[in-house]
Amino acid sequence: MTSKSVLAAPKRPATAEQWQACADQLKLDGRPFIAGARLGSTSKNSFLIRNPFTSQCLVDVPRCTHEDIDNAVAAAVRARADSAWAKQSVALRADVLRSLAAKLESNADELALLDSIQMGMPITFALDDIALAARKLRDVASTAERLHEAVLPSAPTSLAINQRVPQGIVGAITPWNFPLFVALSKVGPALAMGNAVILKPSEIAPLACLRLAELAIEAGVPEGIFNVVPGLGSEAGHALASHGQVNMVSFTGSTATGRTLMQCAAQSNLKALHLELGGKSPQIVLDDCGDARGLAKALADGFMFNGGQLCVAGSRLLIAKNLMADLVPLIVESMGSWRPGNPLDPVTNLGPLASVEQYERVAQMIDDAVQAGFDAQRSSAGGGTLMPTPTLFAGVPPLSEIAQEEVFGPVAAALTFASDAEALALANGTRYGLVATVWSGDLARGKRLAEQINAGGVTVNTQTNHLPARVIGASLEPYGESGNGVEGGADGLLAFTRARHLLLNLPT
Ligand code: ADP
Repeated sequence: MTSKSVLAAPKRPATAEQWQACADQLKLDGRPFIAGARLGSTSKNSFLIRNPFTSQCLVDVPRCTHEDIDNAVAAAVRARADSAWAKQSVALRADVLRSLAAKLESNADELALLDSIQMGMPITFALDDIALAARKLRDVASTAERLHEAVLPSAPTSLAINQRVPQGIVGAITPWNFPLFVALSKVGPALAMGNAVILKPSEIAPLACLRLAELAIEAGVPEGIFNVVPGLGSEAGHALASHGQVNMVSFTGSTATGRTLMQCAAQSNLKALHLELGGKSPQIVLDDCGDARGLAKALADGFMFNGGQLCVAGSRLLIAKNLMADLVPLIVESMGSWRPGNPLDPVTNLGPLASVEQYERVAQMIDDAVQAGFDAQRSSAGGGTLMPTPTLFAGVPPLSEIAQEEVFGPVAAALTFASDAEALALANGTRYGLVATVWSGDLARGKRLAEQINAGGVTVNTQTNHLPARVIGASLEPYGESGNGVEGGADGLLAFTRARHLLLNLPT
């Protein structure tokens, strides 16, 4: 089956109007993709995908049920048995992933547009995200080719090998904040290691993921090896996590849902779980930092990117006492340099939040912190459609809600400290442990501190989401209630396998 991009324009659109004209040409299709084809759902119910900026209803998507999940799992089981996918050399699967990376690039405008209209990501960032996803797929392909199995010391009459074999059937349940990128961060490694995958994308943003399934077939993924079933978390997601033939679920989303998935695994077949959950990541600013203006910009970028809708947002600023008074107004000024507006306008870098519900949740958290009497410093640029005014709460108590809980909006809490030991205690003083950043004029001091922070990734004088520094292949294993299991790098590939030893008694 082949599907042609509807965006046949020879040149990338350059204005909001041109992007909108392309969006108007898109033939949106929310039907599930199972066993290599778009199918009708067994459900009569559906849900609407709405553009958060225009509130326009984009398409009705079937609310897939446990029967659709059953069909997708059956297709995946059949495909693993009938196709050569798991049995062939890893090099052949790697070639298919490289071909899929090329498909992402040749369909980048369409995929970026789909992400942008469903959840409001500024088009420029959405394009970056597709490019990054393609790079990631290529990295996954070459990392998979370099993995090797260990031959163990044994008698000359035997051969003992520690092998890594596929988990089998992998469920992926993904959020809406980077719809295609997060899905590919799971689907790419799972496919590379020989698994079959059923993806349940977020009900807010399933369209690019469904399109991805069509591109995967064109790239050479056998029918049934990659299936995408849209639906609600409590229905399709629950059915996938509870399915007796699904061997592993890889999830990115909220800590609350992570807990539910653990119960689903416990009550079904004790499937392996990989959970990448919430965070309240610290950015520590040590007292030896110079260039206050540059630093303020970097600090603001750390929690403003994607409207703060990122699990690795550096939204807990721990600032040395001597720098606090000077730095806070500069951070607020930097927050004001972000441009809210139409996500299809290439100059916009702050779109709407992804949904009305998300906007209301963030607005409520801001309101609660104001009601608690905390000092709210607001961006002079204000907010926009479904975008609350970016706000920094300065000098808040370490145990307050705004300093402890994930907001998922353009909001940060600033706390102060008097010593490195106090900074460390504050940094480690939440239930989360996803990532952390240390800013210091002394790299050795920064490194010393970084190594004591309980987080799956720590950066010194840069950030995980800082584009020029974005490293492909970095591994992250969360601490605490940010989850468990490794994502990224060679260890992230191994997470989609199980260990097995093979012992051969050789003829003498
Ligand atoms: P977010 O607030 O970031 O959307 P969620 O954890 O609510 O985080 O959602 C992330 C993904 O988890 C979505 O695909 C959603 O449909 C799914 N999900 C939500 N609740 C459940 C559940 N009870 N079982 C399985 N999946 C769920």
